[in-house]
Amino acid sequence: MQIAAYSVVPAEKPYFKRWSKEHQVEVKLIAAPLSQATLDEAAGCVGVCVQQPSALGDAAFYRRFAQMGLKYIGVRSAGIDFVDLAACQKNGIKVTNVPAYSPRAIAEMGLTQALALLRRLGEYRAEMAQGKFSLNPRLISNEIYKLTVGLIGLGHIGGETARLYRALGARVIAYNRSHKIQYESVVEYTDFATVIAQSDIISLHTPLTPATNGMIGEEEFRKMKDSAILINMSRGGLVDTPALITALQHGQIAGAGLDTLANEAEFFRKDVPVDQLPADYQTLAAMPNVIITPHIAFYTATAVKNMVNIGLDNIYRQEIKKN
Ligand code: NAD
Repeated sequence: MQIAAYSVVPAEKPYFKRWSKEHQVEVKLIAAPLSQATLDEAAGCVGVCVQQPSALGDAAFYRRFAQMGLKYIGVRSAGIDFVDLAACQKNGIKVTNVPAYSPRAIAEMGLTQALALLRRLGEYRAEMAQGKFSLNPRLISNEIYKLTVGLIGLGHIGGETARLYRALGARVIAYNRSHKIQYESVVEYTDFATVIAQSDIISLHTPLTPATNGMIGEEEFRKMKDSAILINMSRGGLVDTPALITALQHGQIAGAGLDTLANEAEFFRKDVPVDQLPADYQTLAAMPNVIITPHIAFYTATAVKNMVNIGLDNIYRQEIKKN
């Protein structure tokens, strides 16, 4: 059995090699993403293991995929929006994904940013850069166990986030589309408006859908506490970026921690000349009460290992069962 893995990055290679040795399955490691142009590299394989932001191809791509004898697309991340599921069904291609590879990784990054903003690390750094070392009454902090943390979305990542904040003694309130009984011991369920109005830290954990697109905009910022910190580890599109910039500039909220931005596809995971970075990014990045990370909340050794192992296992198990 042979599997072709595309978009392989150096951090993944040891895990691919170990899995290959343990399962006696040859895994072809390809740095390029899967497309019509790179499909031939999978000749002789049972399936492909992929993870990429851009669409795999058009109808002809899926026809050729099946004609080559390829049967499986094992996505090694949660999102499968770059795969045309209807075309896969039409051509008998089976698609799997890894719905949860390490929710804890993302939850910990959200907490890390929230605590750094709460204790105003960026603002102190800016003060010290100007030689200001005296106690600034504007920069007095709060302790986490005195605060209310509001979560919007209580799935794998929201649930882990709730556990972390509860462990630190915070009051945790949450709004989710449906009631998740498994988190009753760590959250108080409430509605969207209450999370917006009562939270000292608001952490977003829903997927990006038509219902959640722009869910945090001008009106929501107006209703938040002026001491509130917004954490977005989910998808940039959940937040109206111009409204966020206005809210920060006018002191409607105290800070923001962002691992995702609505226009991140233009520059995240790329090397871009600094003067060509989008204007909204430059404005946000210059604010000492904003932390931006380039969509790396998931990027831990545990998560990368799980993505590789579960992504390959999904293909392997189907093929073994079939034979
Ligand atoms: P999940 O599917 O386990 O949880 C999502 C939750 O959102 C579910 O409980 C669902 O009921 C709820 N939800 C959906 N629509 C809603 C709505 N309109 N209103 C209220 N609740 C709603 O997903 P997850 O694994 O927790 O991941 C959440 C998101 O995190 C993903 O969709 C992805 O965008 C993002 N993510 C980011 C990174 C990163 O590195 N920054 C990594 C993985 C995932």
